[in-house]
Amino acid sequence: MKIETENKIIKKIGEIADSRNVSAYLVGGYVRDLIMGKEGVDIDIMTEGDGIQFAKDVSKELGAELNSVYKNFETALLNYENYKIEFVSARKESYDRGSRKPLVETATLEEDLSRRDFTINALAASINKNNFGEVIDNFNGLKDIEAGIIRTPLDPFKTFDDDPLRIMRAVRFASKFNFRIEENTFKAITEMRGRLTDEGVVSQERITNEFLQILMTDKPSVGLDLLYRSGVMQEIFPEIAELEGVDQRNDYHHKNVFYHTLKVVDNISTKTDDLWLRFAALVHDIAKPRTKKFVEGTGWTFHSHEEVGARMMKKIFRKLKLPMTKLDYVEKLVRMHLRPIPLAKDDVTDSAIRRLAAEAGEELEDLLTLCRADITSKNPDKVSKFLENYDRVEKRILEVQEKDELRNFQSPVRGDEIMELFGLEPGKVIGIFKHRIEEAILEGEIPNEYGAAKEYLMKIKDEVLN
Ligand code: ATP
Ligand code: MG
Repeated sequence: MKIETENKIIKKIGEIADSRNVSAYLVGGYVRDLIMGKEGVDIDIMTEGDGIQFAKDVSKELGAELNSVYKNFETALLNYENYKIEFVSARKESYDRGSRKPLVETATLEEDLSRRDFTINALAASINKNNFGEVIDNFNGLKDIEAGIIRTPLDPFKTFDDDPLRIMRAVRFASKFNFRIEENTFKAITEMRGRLTDEGVVSQERITNEFLQILMTDKPSVGLDLLYRSGVMQEIFPEIAELEGVDQRNDYHHKNVFYHTLKVVDNISTKTDDLWLRFAALVHDIAKPRTKKFVEGTGWTFHSHEEVGARMMKKIFRKLKLPMTKLDYVEKLVRMHLRPIPLAKDDVTDSAIRRLAAEAGEELEDLLTLCRADITSKNPDKVSKFLENYDRVEKRILEVQEKDELRNFQSPVRGDEIMELFGLEPGKVIGIFKHRIEEAILEGEIPNEYGAAKEYLMKIKDEVLN
């Protein structure tokens, strides 16, 4: 099979390779995405032989400057136009069990492809002129893309043992492409999951980075559920895994909070690409397991779970090494996620509405987005009724805000100035002038500006004074 691309940079790099007698290949994600019909901006170029030297040659020909060179890994990075081009020498790796830092040795193209994480990522395409676009597919990656399967090229147990971060990557790709993880690969993930959190093997930052990328996929529940079912969630984010507990007492049982949460995250992901709003959706009910109580005659209660949940955030942010600048935001949404519910009633006072708006501040819109996503009833009539309730809350907020704006609204020409202009003493007539200006603005006769107001004032002067 041959791939096609209109990408001029890739063609150009191919020509440079020809002129230096270098065999160069596109590899990894770019090839995979191209086959799936998308062209990205991250381009990985592999050469047999000295990749760094080739990177230098390419930069020189393009009149650009290499951004960085990593001698240890035999890689170099070039940012060119809007592309991020990474050059690598074909290499093989062996691992020291105590860390995931590989010992790197140069190798053939075939050896290089076999050290890659998944068959769908172990594809290469030549960019030399004589066989431009020819795909090298030693592990049936094309078939796996077609069938939607994540599978390691070699023994999955060894693959995940060598670099446990690949566990997270497997789940991320499954979630991103809605692919399934092949059985033996999934078994290895389940078995090797403990390696992910072994001291000094994979840094928390890298685990978190993959986790957040899973949260940014179109349907995060695919990845989150895989993390749970493989036992990885229990390792990396046990508070989320604990949401799964369901208790039954007498005739009462409560909704499975984990699957409810996944639904909320999927819902919100159709509305926003904001990572932290998605994260807030993920953790909004996080304290339900620790606040649940069975009350005879009432059933299950989760008193104060929103407050307890908000207070859990700091520790979670620290442990996952999340940016502390986002802590307040997430805490606020968790803390307030129940607040809009009672406001949907007709007999709610303006001041209750005003208090919610003031407290939520900038986050008001996100809070309502979260509340809407939190509706996971299977009954479509209920869903539309609840959504309408929030529409009503939103409308009430707008009404109240409008009213407040009008109340605070004042003539752009102040009373003092009117007195001075017309040589008047304080008195009723000043108020009349101001009121006339305000009315003219509200009626849209003049714009809400000083100059226009003053002009209007002059126009009505005689009429009012007479
Ligand atoms: P994307 O950039 O869309 O997230 P990608 O497949 O390009 O996906 P990168 O992290 O950019 O992923 O890595 C480029 C290529 O390097 C991958 O396609 C894969 O072949 C290889 N690779 C990256 N990380 C690993 C790893 N931990 N183990 C083995 N191979 C890896
Ligand atoms: Mg990439």
